[in-house]
Amino acid sequence: MERSVIHLTHCQKEIFCFSVPEVCPSCGEELKGRRLQEAPVSLPSPFTDGHKTSCCLLVAPAHNNLDRDFSGTSDLHTGISNTKGVVYNYTQDGVRRDQSGWALCVSVPLVRPDMFHLLAQWDQYLERFSEGPTWDPVWHKFHEDEHNCFSFCLQFLNSVLELEGQSILTREEFTQSFILPRMRRVSKYTTLIQHLQKHQYYMVDRQEESTPNS
Ligand SMILES: [Zn+2]
Repeated sequence: MERSVIHLTHCQKEIFCFSVPEVCPSCGEELKGRRLQEAPVSLPSPFTDGHKTSCCLLVAPAHNNLDRDFSGTSDLHTGISNTKGVVYNYTQDGVRRDQSGWALCVSVPLVRPDMFHLLAQWDQYLERFSEGPTWDPVWHKFHEDEHNCFSFCLQFLNSVLELEGQSILTREEFTQSFILPRMRRVSKYTTLIQHLQKHQYYMVDRQEESTPNS
């Protein structure tokens, strides 16, 4: 469904494209027989299938926007996956337990794989937390800015942090450390894809610090 982006370097240029060209689009030199360090690699996509994740914070465009419009202005919907890839997410109707619909989203792991005790109890924590009156539409009304999907994820994460004896996060810290860095990457990637859908290549001057093995 998603075309993978290929990244190669040649003549001090970083070249991004959907398929490897015969000749370098910058200098025109044939690309066959180039040095191994210039070999094309596919650029990892920032998107994951949320239903294949375990204990992750998931961020997806709201309203199942398939254009993957992650530009900063578009609405984002967040949820938390259990160990079986069921995505718990808070909406106006309460907490949904989605088994589909989160196939294209950004995932942020919340539990280290060696935290066995937490992993063993995660599903139970998540279920019990979701059953609380805070998320019951009869008791508490959904509010687009103040009591939303994001509040649900943050409060759940904080309840886990508290159980683990760690300090809790403010909304600001949560956004800054968990959401924004990933969204910036997504936004760069999306811009690149959009460019490649119109033009054959995207080229930039090679940055010294991004040279592998240097
Ligand atoms: Zn070249």
